[in-house]
Amino acid sequence: MDTLRKLDEHLHNRPIDLKKMKEKGKKIIAYFAGEFVPEEMIYAAGAIPIGLVHGGSGEEVDAAGAYMHHALCPFSKTQFALCVLNQQPYYRLMDLLVVPVPCIHLHRAADCYEYYTDIDVFRLGVPHQSMELELNYFADAQRRLKEKIEGVVGTEIKIEELKKAIFLYNRMRNLLKQISLLRTQDPPALSGLEFMKINHASFYADPTFMVEILQSLYEELQERRLERNGVKPRILLTGPNLARGDYKIFELAEGEGKADVVVEEAFEGVRFYWQNVEEDGDPYQNLAQRYLRKFPPAGIMRKSTIPRSQFLSKLAKDFEVDGVFWYQIRLCECYDMESHWFKDYFDKELSLPMLKLVSNYDALEFGYNKTRVDTFIDMLKTKKR
Ligand code: SF4
Repeated sequence: MDTLRKLDEHLHNRPIDLKKMKEKGKKIIAYFAGEFVPEEMIYAAGAIPIGLVHGGSGEEVDAAGAYMHHALCPFSKTQFALCVLNQQPYYRLMDLLVVPVPCIHLHRAADCYEYYTDIDVFRLGVPHQSMELELNYFADAQRRLKEKIEGVVGTEIKIEELKKAIFLYNRMRNLLKQISLLRTQDPPALSGLEFMKINHASFYADPTFMVEILQSLYEELQERRLERNGVKPRILLTGPNLARGDYKIFELAEGEGKADVVVEEAFEGVRFYWQNVEEDGDPYQNLAQRYLRKFPPAGIMRKSTIPRSQFLSKLAKDFEVDGVFWYQIRLCECYDMESHWFKDYFDKELSLPMLKLVSNYDALEFGYNKTRVDTFIDMLKTKKR
């Protein structure tokens, strides 16, 4: 598709374009994955927001070993390794790094930036509940973030600019949602891997350009259907994290036309597009609401299991899935513990089998996970027939 080619070209040139803009005085504000940092605020300040969501390579995990404790998860290690390896320009270009602190692993990655680099780090406290008290705390944390951004950029964020940014990002989320919903069809209009690459692109691309691309893509995809190749199970993919480049799970599931990943729910790495920021009223309060309350609580939050199971149950029904993949990032302890509960839940409440796959971003995982995935998909096919 011509639109996807344009997007690839934009992403290919983006680091060079960013460097040029930086030389002309533009500020780049990067942030770690997780649905807590309001990009709208960064964009409204006239800075360039970049979401750091790369991962999936064992070499990067190994490189982090010289700096970080072995008991940290591969995603958090990658977030620092990519800075020291100096192979990924997004991880060195920033004037400020905003780190939401949902777990100790990202906290330690932020420590490394402070110890070993001169990159300015701002930690955004993330409460583990979302009642009134926590909402006020989070709104206050966002106020401090606003002051920090204004300090870096050297100007105040104007309310009108913030409202425009909210409108722009709402459009982006709406279009991602519309595109994602094209996968409720059977066969879906695009593969899980295609959707994931588009979703990941939205963290790096210029948001105005991204909205135009998503609009064109939506129009093109409305007429498209993937080829039907026998009985193809429809998969819901869930877990703590799906990083840009960590696409082995899609190759395993969708390779050789075996199955379709029709919907995914992950805490980090994937832009959440089901809920928007309210456009009327106090924009700061609306941002705090959206970024703390308006998505299914992640596994790191207290009492998160039931509300997330309800959200996943709705996705499973709406997208008519046949089975679930739980993609577990190694050493991500809260999701690991939850996975046992969810396996029972999917089985008993929804009659959906769940396969848990654990990843340390190691290339060797592919072989043994392939055997398990193939067997699981064969079982789903038999059930579906
Ligand atoms: S994958 Fe889990 S442990 Fe790693 S940064 Fe994310 S939430 Fe934390």
